[in-house]
Amino acid sequence: MTPPSSTALPFLPFARPDIGEAEITAVTEALRSGWVTTGPMAKKFETAFTNYLGGGLHSVAVNSATAGLHLALEALGIGPGDEVIAPTLTFTATVEVVRYLGADAVLVDVDPVTLNMDPAGVRAAISPRTKAIMPVHYGGLACDMDAILAIAHEHGLKVVEDAAHALPTTWRGALVGQLASDVTVFSFYANKTITTGEGGMAVTRDETLAQRMRVMRLHGMNRDAFDRFTSKTPAWYYEVVAPGFKYNMTDVAAAMGVVQLARLPQFVQRRETLAQRYHAALATLPLVLPATAPAGDQHAWHLYVVRLTSEARIGRDDLIQGLADRGIGTSVHYVPLHRHPYWRDRYGLTPGQFPTADAAYLAMVSLPLFTAMSDADQDRVIAALHALLGG
Ligand SMILES: *Cc1c(COP(=O)(O)O)cnc(C)c1O
Repeated sequence: MTPPSSTALPFLPFARPDIGEAEITAVTEALRSGWVTTGPMAKKFETAFTNYLGGGLHSVAVNSATAGLHLALEALGIGPGDEVIAPTLTFTATVEVVRYLGADAVLVDVDPVTLNMDPAGVRAAISPRTKAIMPVHYGGLACDMDAILAIAHEHGLKVVEDAAHALPTTWRGALVGQLASDVTVFSFYANKTITTGEGGMAVTRDETLAQRMRVMRLHGMNRDAFDRFTSKTPAWYYEVVAPGFKYNMTDVAAAMGVVQLARLPQFVQRRETLAQRYHAALATLPLVLPATAPAGDQHAWHLYVVRLTSEARIGRDDLIQGLADRGIGTSVHYVPLHRHPYWRDRYGLTPGQFPTADAAYLAMVSLPLFTAMSDADQDRVIAALHALLGG
């Protein structure tokens, strides 16, 4: 084994945004245009996003997916006394927004193969207070949306998809964003499949929900700044119709988003190739490899999460350390919510209530997967895994 040394290869991060000259030019132009806050670029990005998903939708650009999830639940009227069902194996943002509104999150376990929210768990978690379900397409693989939408329909529940990992993901041939849920929210955080630095998009078919989210993303004002400076009604006049938020996306961010979205088809291809290379190269190791999409469907491959089997000769923490010693960054998605003090203590949660998510957490590592990584970068990860886990 080669000991780590200062002459080792450069550190390979777990993720890195793929920003090219086109993004830099677009951002520079936005800066030179004199309009840096929400304006023509944000509108252009929203239109391009709707077109990408196939039309017939309203896209509402916001400054984070967290903001979009908050706006979605607010527009749906979620409030104190309500319950919202979500998986425990997610980022805290999925459910912190439930608490912003004074409602409560009810966490459920995940499926052992897909690591997506288990529909049977959702069904079991429904109470008279339940108002909504928040599926998370873990890693970029679609949840069983037929089952979730059927449960929602049966019980009169709203569905807000946390699609932070799911651009582009399909379920039975339809892109996530086009499904029959109420609102779908995408993230453009730095490590997501496209990035605006920080940003998000809330997508809905419902004009009334879209209108509410547009008003609430900007202080509850019924006119945004761009409209005020371009329309014939006096620029100074607006009306506040609710105590809204400050969640609008800047034109600087949107300029980046327009370029990133145009590059998405190439990004997906590269992610797909990298995922297939991992599958082929890691098949003989004591690892559970991530589930692939059903035939004909697209996995966004935001994450490539492997789980050590009980045959592995080292544990998860040692695997992470071994990779770090070889200059390879990894991550863990996620420390499940039931293990975080806030969620654990508020709801009195124990690992025993979430056996699948908990076992997955203890065995999992997210391997480097980003479009700008080379085959040689990936071969380093593969070789390191074979050195640490191979026979
Ligand atoms: C990244 C992420 C979010 C939050 O996205 P932001 O744009 O950073 O607010 C929410 N949910 C999941 C599952 C995420 O991975």
